[in-house]
Amino acid sequence: MHHDVVVVGGGAGGLELAARLGRRLGRRQGPRRVLLVDRSVFHIWKPTLHEVAAGTLDAHQEGLSYTVLARRNHFGFTLGELRGLDTQARTLRLGAIHDEQGRLLVPERTLSYRWLVLAMGSGSNFFGTPGAEHAYVLEQAADAERFRRHLQAAFTRSAFAAEKRLGIAIVGGGATGVELAAELIEAHQETLASLDPEQAFRLDLTLVEAAPRILAGLPERISAQAQTALQRKQVRVLTRTRVLVVQPDRLVTEAQGDIVADLIVWAAGIQAAPHNASYSLTTNRAHQFVVNEHLATSAEGVYALGDCAACPWTADKTVPARAQAAHQQAEYLEARLMALLRERAPSSHPFTYRDFGSLVSLGDNKGVGNLMGGLAGRNFFVEGLIAKWMYMSLHLMHHRAILGVGGTFVLAMARLLQRRVSGRLKLH
Ligand SMILES: Cc1cc2nc3c(=O)[nH]c(=O)nc-3n(C[C@H](O)[C@H](O)[C@H](O)COP(=O)(O)OP(=O)(O)OC[C@H]3O[C@@H](n4cnc5c(N)ncnc54)[C@H](O)[C@@H]3O)c2cc1C
Repeated sequence: MHHDVVVVGGGAGGLELAARLGRRLGRRQGPRRVLLVDRSVFHIWKPTLHEVAAGTLDAHQEGLSYTVLARRNHFGFTLGELRGLDTQARTLRLGAIHDEQGRLLVPERTLSYRWLVLAMGSGSNFFGTPGAEHAYVLEQAADAERFRRHLQAAFTRSAFAAEKRLGIAIVGGGATGVELAAELIEAHQETLASLDPEQAFRLDLTLVEAAPRILAGLPERISAQAQTALQRKQVRVLTRTRVLVVQPDRLVTEAQGDIVADLIVWAAGIQAAPHNASYSLTTNRAHQFVVNEHLATSAEGVYALGDCAACPWTADKTVPARAQAAHQQAEYLEARLMALLRERAPSSHPFTYRDFGSLVSLGDNKGVGNLMGGLAGRNFFVEGLIAKWMYMSLHLMHHRAILGVGGTFVLAMARLLQRRVSGRLKLH
C-alpha cells in the first residue's frame, strides 16, 4: 500500500494534521494520498485522560472513531503499530495486532510513503524508580479506563469496609497530577452524595512532588493558588519529597517515610517511546526525534511533531510537550506538506512556537493559569470560572479542528444534555 503522506499517531497533533490535509485535498484525492496510522481504533484527546480516570468523563462517549473521522475529513485510516522504518526505501513496517485473547486481528504489513510524519506522543518516565510498575499511569485511554474501574471498585469497597477510608497517592505535582487530584476529589464528593450516610468514607489523597513547589514549570503565583485550592479540599501536598521505591501498598520516600495508599498513580514525568531509538533517526536522551526548525528529522522526507519531537525553541530549550505545541506544529506541517503535494517549493519560514500560556483545571468550576501576550501585550493571570471556561475552550478548539464548527456544537450540546440525565460521574 502506498500513500504520499503517512502520519503515524492520531493524537492531538497527528489527527489534526491528517484532517486538515484531507479536507484540503477533498473527497477524491484525500483518502488516496493521506493515510493516518494509529494503534487504537478510537481517538480521545489526551488532556482529558485525568477526567476519564476519575470517572467524570466517559471514554466511550468521548472517544471518536478514526474510521468515521477519516470518512468525514477525507483521509485514509489504518489500524497498526509502527515497529520498523526503512528511510532509504521509504517504507515502514506495522506490527501485527492481536485481540485480548491473543487472536490475530491485523497481520504485520509494510507501507510505502513519500513523506512521513511521526506523531506518536509520549509515555511515562519513571526515572529508574524501583517498583514503579506497581503504579497506574495515564498514557492512553486504556490506562485511564483501567484506573477508573479499579477506583470505582475501591470506592465501593471502602463504603462497606469497617475502616471507611481510602488512600490514594499521586506521584508528580505537574499539571497531570494536580488536575487528577482535583478531579478525584470531585468524584469522591459526587459518590458521597449518592451514598447512604452510613456508608460515607474518607478519601486520603496525597500529592507527592520532588521539587520545592507543585506546577514547578509555571509561575509561582499559579503554584501557590493551586496548592491552596488543593489543601482546601483536604489534599495533602508534599513538596521536596522524592520517591525512592514504589511498593504495591506504599511509597517509600526520603523526606516523609512511608506513604501508605490503596491506589498509586505515577504522573511524575514523560519521555518518548524507547523504541524510537531503533529507527535510525537522531534521537535525544528522552527518545524524542531531533527535528530542525522545519520539523524535519535526520532522514529525508521524515518529519516529527508533538511530544515525540525535540524541536528547537529558545537557545537552551526545546518546544514543551503540550497539546498547544502539537496543534501549532500540525498547522505548520499542513502548509509545508500541501506545498509538497502540489509539487511546489515549501516556504522557507521556520516553525515558531507561540506560548499562549498555561491553564490548569482545579475541578468542576475552577481553574487557574496565565495567558501570555494578551490584549495589552502583557501576561496576565486568570482564575476561577473564567480560567475553567478557557481551559474547556481548548478542548473545543481541538474538536473544531477535526469535526468542524457544526459538529463541535452538536457534540457539546449532546454531552451537556447527556450529563443532565445521567449525572457527571460514570459509576458503572
Ligand atoms: C492527564 C493529562 C493532562 C494534560 N493536560 C494538558 C493541558 O491541559 N494542556 C496541554 O497543552 N497539554 C496537556 N497535556 C499534554 C498533551 O496531552 C500532550 O502534549 C499532547 O497530547 C501531545 O500530542 P501528540 O499528538 O504529540 O501525542 P498524543 O496526543 O499522545 O497522540 C499520540 C498518538 O499516537 C498513537 N501511537 C503511539 N505510538 C504509536 C505507534 N507505535 N504506532 C501507531 N500509533 C501510535 C497513540 O495511540 C496516540 O493516538 C496533558 C497530558 C495528560 C496525560
